[in-house]
Amino acid sequence: MHKILDVIVIGGGQSGLACGYYLRRHKLNFLLLDKEEKCGGAWLHAWDSLTLFSPAEHSSLPGWLMPKSKNLFPLKQEVIDYLCQYEKRYELPIERSVTVENITSENKVFKVYTNKGIYFSKAILAATGTWNNPFIPKIKGIDTFKGIQIHSAYYKNAEQFNNLKVLVVGEGNSGAQIVSEISKVTTVKWSTRKPPQYLPDEVDGFYLFNVATAKYNAEKEGKPFDAANYDLGNIVIVPPVKEARSRGVLISSGSFESMYENGVIWPDGTKEDFDAIIWCTGFGYATSFLKNIVSADERGIVKTEESKATEIPGLWLAGYGSWTGYASATLIGINRNAKQTCNEIIEYLQQI
Ligand code: FAD
Repeated sequence: MHKILDVIVIGGGQSGLACGYYLRRHKLNFLLLDKEEKCGGAWLHAWDSLTLFSPAEHSSLPGWLMPKSKNLFPLKQEVIDYLCQYEKRYELPIERSVTVENITSENKVFKVYTNKGIYFSKAILAATGTWNNPFIPKIKGIDTFKGIQIHSAYYKNAEQFNNLKVLVVGEGNSGAQIVSEISKVTTVKWSTRKPPQYLPDEVDGFYLFNVATAKYNAEKEGKPFDAANYDLGNIVIVPPVKEARSRGVLISSGSFESMYENGVIWPDGTKEDFDAIIWCTGFGYATSFLKNIVSADERGIVKTEESKATEIPGLWLAGYGSWTGYASATLIGINRNAKQTCNEIIEYLQQI
């Protein structure tokens, strides 16, 4: 007879750990499965210079504050260290190098198929983030381009692009930060569909979390809320972006129409050669392993009420951003989301 766990959490990044913290407090019989060999989730893959948007004291998972950083915003490695120490501190049961490939459900038991065998559980909590599903738009001619093309998910540092003429595509935080960095070592152009929009200089991730919270509460109470000046998708003026702005390099060339073997074609028909293109065009959600139990749209969004899947009982999704709980894709925001999700799971387990 195989062992049936109460809950399997898929993903051992910041969201999976926050959920693990609450499951452990309730003494549930659970396991986290993570495809990475090491701790740290998506932060393992971030570019070398990436920092948080907020100071350490506003970037903590439940139970234990992130240690103070010498830097205004903690560095990538400090975030990884925090996540690694967090899972040790709470003795979270994680099996690594386990990739969940598929899930089926029968008689209220989930069968979880992985590269390391089959696991069974009464409930599933998916916390697989976005990094495994980078998005590149289907641009006419993209397959003919002979230069280097990478998604920001695989960008490490500017040295990779020394002496190359680079085009960075995308008007979000990744695009702004990568242009800021690469412009120090080589010629770079920035292609955006609309003019880049910046948040006021004093606005950091913590401020944005408070705006998101106020918006959520207002919507819940049916009250109007005007966050027009603080569009959560606008670029945060982190120190490297501020520095690049002072050099005058954050200038958009607008969007291009199509690509050819050596570069891109601008709307007036001009062809421009580039050695490399970096796609800072965002991510979908890494939920394809759920395909046999729920439907998802082309971005990987599953139908949920906050984090609870509505198409099948026993499945929750946490940490994917606003569709699973406001600000849930951030360290500070996952706390509330994880707590509520675990309370719902406990209620469910008591009923079945
Ligand atoms: P991840 O960290 O992606 O963890 C998911 C885990 O699931 C991974 O370990 C992955 O290997 C595993 N996994 C995926 N698929 C499977 C599978 N099929 N089977 C088994 N395991 C699987 N967040 C902040 O809080 N503050 C910030 O300042 C901040 N700044 C950012 C700046 C940029 C430019 C970017 C791009 C992101 C930033 N983020 C920030 C967001 C943050 O990096 C992610 O939202 C966060 O990593 C999401 O955590 P997660 O645990 O949900 O997913």
